[in-house]
Amino acid sequence: MSTYVYDFAEGGRDMVGLLGNKGANLAEMTRMGLPVPPGFTVTTEACRVFLASGEPPTELRDQIRDHLAVLERGAGRRLGQADDPLLVSVRSGASVSMPGMMETVLDVGLNDYSVLGLGKTHERERFAWDSYRRLVQMYGTTVMGVDGSLFEASLTGVKEQHHAPDDSTLDVPDLIRITESFKDLILERTGRAFPQDPAEQLWGAVLAVFASWNGERARLYRRRERIADDLGTAVTVQRMVFGNLGPDSGSGVAFTRDPATGRPGVYGDYLPSAQGEDVVSGVRNTVPLQELATLDPTSFTQLHEHMAALETHYRDLCDIEFTIEGGRLWMLQTRVGKRTAQAAFGIASQLADEGVITIRQALGRVDGAGLAQLMFPRFDTTGTDTVIARGIPASPGAAVGAVVFDSAEAVRRAGAGEKVVLVRNETTADDLPGMVAAQAVLTSHGGKTSHAAVVARGMGKVCVCGAEGVVVDGRTRCFTAGRLTVPEGTVVSVDGSRGLVLRGAVPMVDSELVHYFDRGGRLPDDPAAQEAVLPVHRILQEADAARRLEVRANADTPQDAARARRFGAQGIGLCRTEHMFLGDRRPLVEAMILAEGAADRDAALGALLPLQRADFTGILKAMDGLPVTIRLLDPPLHEFLPDRTELAVRTARQEALGAAPDPRDTALLAAVNRMHEENPMLGLRGVRLGLVVPGLVAMQVRAVAEAVVTRSRAGGDPRAEIMVPLVDTVEELRLVKQEVDRVLTAVSTETGVALECPVGTMIELPRAALTAGRIAEEARFFSFGTNDLTQTTWGFSRDDVEAAFFSAYLDKGVFPVSPFETIDREGVGRLVRIAVAEGRAARPGLQIGVCGEHGGDPSSVHFFHDVGLDYVSCSPFRVPVARLEAGRAALETSGREAVDHAGGRAVPAGRVR
Ligand code: ADP
Ligand code: MG
Ligand code: MG
Repeated sequence: MSTYVYDFAEGGRDMVGLLGNKGANLAEMTRMGLPVPPGFTVTTEACRVFLASGEPPTELRDQIRDHLAVLERGAGRRLGQADDPLLVSVRSGASVSMPGMMETVLDVGLNDYSVLGLGKTHERERFAWDSYRRLVQMYGTTVMGVDGSLFEASLTGVKEQHHAPDDSTLDVPDLIRITESFKDLILERTGRAFPQDPAEQLWGAVLAVFASWNGERARLYRRRERIADDLGTAVTVQRMVFGNLGPDSGSGVAFTRDPATGRPGVYGDYLPSAQGEDVVSGVRNTVPLQELATLDPTSFTQLHEHMAALETHYRDLCDIEFTIEGGRLWMLQTRVGKRTAQAAFGIASQLADEGVITIRQALGRVDGAGLAQLMFPRFDTTGTDTVIARGIPASPGAAVGAVVFDSAEAVRRAGAGEKVVLVRNETTADDLPGMVAAQAVLTSHGGKTSHAAVVARGMGKVCVCGAEGVVVDGRTRCFTAGRLTVPEGTVVSVDGSRGLVLRGAVPMVDSELVHYFDRGGRLPDDPAAQEAVLPVHRILQEADAARRLEVRANADTPQDAARARRFGAQGIGLCRTEHMFLGDRRPLVEAMILAEGAADRDAALGALLPLQRADFTGILKAMDGLPVTIRLLDPPLHEFLPDRTELAVRTARQEALGAAPDPRDTALLAAVNRMHEENPMLGLRGVRLGLVVPGLVAMQVRAVAEAVVTRSRAGGDPRAEIMVPLVDTVEELRLVKQEVDRVLTAVSTETGVALECPVGTMIELPRAALTAGRIAEEARFFSFGTNDLTQTTWGFSRDDVEAAFFSAYLDKGVFPVSPFETIDREGVGRLVRIAVAEGRAARPGLQIGVCGEHGGDPSSVHFFHDVGLDYVSCSPFRVPVARLEAGRAALETSGREAVDHAGGRAVPAGRVR
């Protein structure tokens, strides 16, 4: 027979999965000898049986009855006993905390008789009827399914009749009448009477708590917090204690440290003459916990002691619920408390200072998401701000600027020193200069992985996207949001953490942390700034010591490279060359595309060569001594040509006016038409481009090689690597490599400088992953391009699916998180595993990294650690996050190995440095 019920004395916090957070921690406090009203917990397993079959386990009723008997014996009273009733609360609690999401029923055991026993003295009469009234109401809604608003309506009716402004002014006859009307309401609505039998009440409440697992509120919360739907809740049955017995009673909540800053001390709220639920429901204003010191010094001192004991015991910040009944303190709940990101780092490092945990354990108490949050400037949220529009919080942080509606205007104003916010329906590669110039990007279309969102996150720039209320009118140069019209130049504030656009310039606070990283990890002198930065500094150092994965950055300019290096990057994992083809170099690229013969083309390429060489020289200098992986040109060439429709309209208009269209326009239009592709993502791009456009690869490789020579002659230590994009088959790579080798040899001969530039490939197509063993014959290194690999594995293009149906897919639970955000381990991850295994089998010691956006995503970093990659590469801004998560991943592995070891399996303890 299974055990479905545990007394508090039989449980402990290690049983969280079975007893839920609340039940396990009540048991733990009982064990520690803290004053906890006695009780027992029905397991989550019983709930799971109920959820699966619609029926509770058959033995449950008897087990509850037995445990209730023990509780009654201990109290010397029986549940609902007429003269002096024992009352219980029936509380929900899953293994992960879901505060306020499921139901709890208080005062179970009251009926028409026991209410008299509870109120046997005159002073307690009102309290007894108020409790009964609450039970009938709570039970009626939670257990019997009566619409809660009907009770509220009936209560308001009585209050109005009696000119009573709130519940506390109702007298005993009022309360009796209300209770009776509530009971009538239940009978009328359900055809069943409110149960008078206490045992039946208890049973009904237990089943109702089970059922509340699938309540709408709870389901929504789980989806948002990514909590599994099949965990189920435990049910805790506990003797009631009363905080509403008079002035020497009350209820409160408290934290062992300030959950906002992490500073030690006791923080909380107290409400005299109140039950616990009144504290959170806000029916009356609470007083700061400190005042309890004067109201009830004995209880206050005890509370202090208990909280100190809890923090020492849990070795972490705890939050608690307590109630004082007639001057006696009772502990009703504790859990390791939620906290802000700042507090998480602060607390972890303080606890390490205090010797409560090790600094290595402190690393396990923080995470990359929190670190990322701390790196963005934020708005001072103490003011009252007017929200203009709401959208998706795509890239966190806070920014203020004047709205502009195109890239050129953004660049112009920014050049003049103005701060701007770029507002577009959506962005394309053409908007890049504007995005760089802007403080924030706001779009009306697109989701979290739209172009705007991805690029903004990559640049660490604030972005709110999909703000559907915003209608951009580029012609009149304004946008409307509801009835509001916002002309160009209007100053707005964009809150990328909350997805809000606010009117005017909301004051901001800078992130100390970014200054710290920009100083290359040197601590600030100012003590206040140091307090904010030091915890991160210490924990990050520990992460660096623990991690096996190297962290590189995706950077295309010397500035980005330098910044990445200051942020701790150990090289560049992806240097894209396409940005180097934009801006004022565009005519050169056009000339190359339009070239009629070899001579024309060579001239165009020849003009590009010195520009590229200068770019590479700068980057190699910024990353001197560290690897720089340069990717050959990837996007389809028409991305560098003007828009097809625009061109067509322009030439047609000139023709209509009787003028001869500009011959350059005609040539461009012909080229654009020739190169038009239905699916550019699957068209002529990547290595394919290199194999069909003569001279392109040679020019790029020559630029790299000559940059290496320049740097070597300058006494530097350039370490360029050449990476070939979008390879499907080893043949493609072999052909490109021949070309590369030819150029390297030529440059080497011309200059007399020996060149050593490893050639490797991106693995970003399923075919490449599946034939990785063959490809490794030619590749010195692999780098997973997980963005394209995700697109091609799933068969959808990010730009198209994001806005179209991703939100529906997330809602329906097709995937719990976008595969562009966190790597899809099952599918894309499987390809990664195959390629790693077969690549290394063919070429032992093959260098393998990842340069897709996933390289900076915490969960994905753990995966890449687990599959044995050598490095992750991400945007400079994400480098600290990746360092931290790589350290945490190593910690988890060593933890797992230690556990396996303890289990007696011969596992080497820790590959961790
Ligand atoms: P939640 O998870 O929503 O906080 P709880 O189960 O903690 O729900 O209960 C709601 C309120 O009732 C809390 O304020 C709690 O302290 C109070 N409460 C629960 N059980 C008892 C009890 N046995 N005696 C007095 N108050 C209780
Ligand atoms: Mg609670
Ligand atoms: Mg790619």
